[in-house]
Amino acid sequence: MPSVAVKRVYNFSSGPAVLPLAVLEQAQAEMLALPGVGASVLEISHRSKEFVAILEEAKANLKQLLNIPDGYTTLFLQGGARLQFSMIPMNLLRGQSAAADYVITGSWGKSAKAEAEREGPVRVVWDGQETNYDRLPKSDELKINPQAAYVHITSNETIQGVQFPTEPETNGAPLVCDSSSDIFYRPLNVNKYGLLYFCAQKNAGPAGLTVAVVRDDLLKRSADNLPGYLNYKNHAEQDSMWNTPPCFAIYMFNLVTRWLLNDMGGLAKMHELNRQKAKLLYDVIDASHGFYQGHAQPDVRSLMNVTFRLPSPELEKKFVAEAEQHDLYTLKGHRSVGGMRASIYNAMPLEGVITLHDFMQDFVKQNG
Ligand SMILES: *Cc1c(COP(=O)(O)O)cnc(C)c1O
Repeated sequence: MPSVAVKRVYNFSSGPAVLPLAVLEQAQAEMLALPGVGASVLEISHRSKEFVAILEEAKANLKQLLNIPDGYTTLFLQGGARLQFSMIPMNLLRGQSAAADYVITGSWGKSAKAEAEREGPVRVVWDGQETNYDRLPKSDELKINPQAAYVHITSNETIQGVQFPTEPETNGAPLVCDSSSDIFYRPLNVNKYGLLYFCAQKNAGPAGLTVAVVRDDLLKRSADNLPGYLNYKNHAEQDSMWNTPPCFAIYMFNLVTRWLLNDMGGLAKMHELNRQKAKLLYDVIDASHGFYQGHAQPDVRSLMNVTFRLPSPELEKKFVAEAEQHDLYTLKGHRSVGGMRASIYNAMPLEGVITLHDFMQDFVKQNG
């Protein structure tokens, strides 16, 4: 079927963000009718055997990608990461004797803490505000209570571009992690986590789906008097079918997990490529003699969100405008950090990063 010529740009949006072209093409091909079904995934019952098969494959792929051991339950939820900011303390903090410990390494962690405070006692064990969230705590700066109800971290702070290269030691307290903007960027040791959660629209699919991987002993904490949707137990007992799940977003998530497994060859390979892509940009920043100023300290630089400033607001405006002439879009940073942000999630092709790298080099030559 002839289709209208489509021009796609290199899209560095922080979220919703770039998706693999192969995934979009498959969704397009199957939009009017899923093979063998004769109707769109948008039109069929969430209890049909065809949709249940999609949900089961999505769960199996997630389990394979993250190597999730027995003793964890995966929940497919709605409401974004922000609803988890509330559901986590409702389910895991209510009725506990000790406070929840929060490690604040950027804007999202700060918002997560604010929601937890509505529910129960919270202790901030570290907060990087003093240096505008450009670094992470050293292990001897983290005084985590081993008895804490849980310890909350944000593995990658999307706005500031700081990322934990590995998980901090919690001395036995359950680690709860918001990995909304870096899930699937590398292999994980899920055993280190009590609860791992992410919204899909940065690195795993479209908006509308939020996934939580919860250790089974923590599921027992949920109080019976919680509102039904907000109780993890209901979702666990009904296999994420307590109400109608976000079917289309789950279908897309399934295609992304297939792409990671089959096209990218798994998360170890994905990690290699992510390191290569990020290095291209950080190398230009470091070789620019201060023309580009990275926001994050070098040892905690994010492989997903590269944040940097230029010498003046005028040059930043010029940078954004000229970048678009090279098909490089949505590079303006978040207002709280200023400057630029290049979000280079899994689905950003290497050619996109190389094009940006070359443009940045030329821009210093012209304007430095
Ligand atoms: C985008 C983002 C969120 C917010 O997700 P919503 O789905 O909009 O609620 C939370 N945490 C991190 C790290 C994010 O990148």
